[in-house]
Amino acid sequence: MARTRKRFIAGAECPACGAADTLQLTISSDAAGNVREEQVQCVACQHTFSDKEEPQQQTSAKDDTLIGLFKPE
Ligand SMILES: [Zn+2]
Repeated sequence: MARTRKRFIAGAECPACGAADTLQLTISSDAAGNVREEQVQCVACQHTFSDKEEPQQQTSAKDDTLIGLFKPE
């Protein structure tokens, strides 16, 4: 039996409508407990997106900082 867990992401803001604390994380896992899919849906505007897409801007900013700090030469 596949399982689906849902929980709200505290303090998160919807990128589509800008509402706060409306983002619900849905984690789908298979019978073995392996996570198959993570999706975030805004309960206010029904906008749905992948959890892995949303924080890309923050990740790239950190990467830039790391590149600046660690110079191999
Ligand atoms: Zn929204």
